[in-house]
Amino acid sequence: MTPEERKMSLVFALRSQGIRDQAVLKVMENVDRGIFVNGTFAERAYEDTPLPIDCGQTISQPFIVALMTEALEIGPRDKVLEIGTGSGYQAAILAGLARRVYTMDRHRSLVRSARERFDALGLTNITPHAADGSFGWPEQAPFDRIILTAAAEDPPGPLLAQLKPGGIMVLPVGQSDSMQTLIQVKKTENGLDYREIRDVRFVPLLEGMV
Ligand code: SAH
Repeated sequence: MTPEERKMSLVFALRSQGIRDQAVLKVMENVDRGIFVNGTFAERAYEDTPLPIDCGQTISQPFIVALMTEALEIGPRDKVLEIGTGSGYQAAILAGLARRVYTMDRHRSLVRSARERFDALGLTNITPHAADGSFGWPEQAPFDRIILTAAAEDPPGPLLAQLKPGGIMVLPVGQSDSMQTLIQVKKTENGLDYREIRDVRFVPLLEGMV
């Protein structure tokens, strides 16, 4: 397939699974997932499937990336926090929609390679940081949007506290090695509104640095 055909087939796969947001489809079309996976898996980068990355972690299926991005309802002035940088692919997608993206991972080496990719792509509105994301990033808080790409048992308290009023958080919740549910949490004047999106399977949110 030519690069053009690959892009079209990815957008087709996303649309056929129900992704409707034009801005999300556009940015998914524009960001080359091949840059975010290594050697042996690079040729499968354009399939709608999760793939292994370094440190035993996983880059999500493009459909799940699109679904989570759509559920975040990002506006162009938004400041977004991502927990779980991994390859940096999700952060690159967010950077195409938001004003600024802060992204954290507990694996220093993943943050290092993600930073190199952002630099190579000229993505200057992403700030990567190696730290345990369960505590959020108090110095940069509050955030308009927060996304977790690792599963927590419950939405972490410090992250809810760092979400602006009117803000949205999207995350997988559930026991680490069983099925999890992707949820959207909206912070309203009256408290938190929870919406279940679908069943998913993510790596667990773990404590401490690696
Ligand atoms: N969003 C990534 C995929 C993330 S995989 C991408 O687009 O490629 C989940 C990531 O969450 C892993 O890299 C893992 O190291 C990270 N993670 C797990 N627990 C964490 C924690 N407490 N703080 C920060 N990152 C964490």
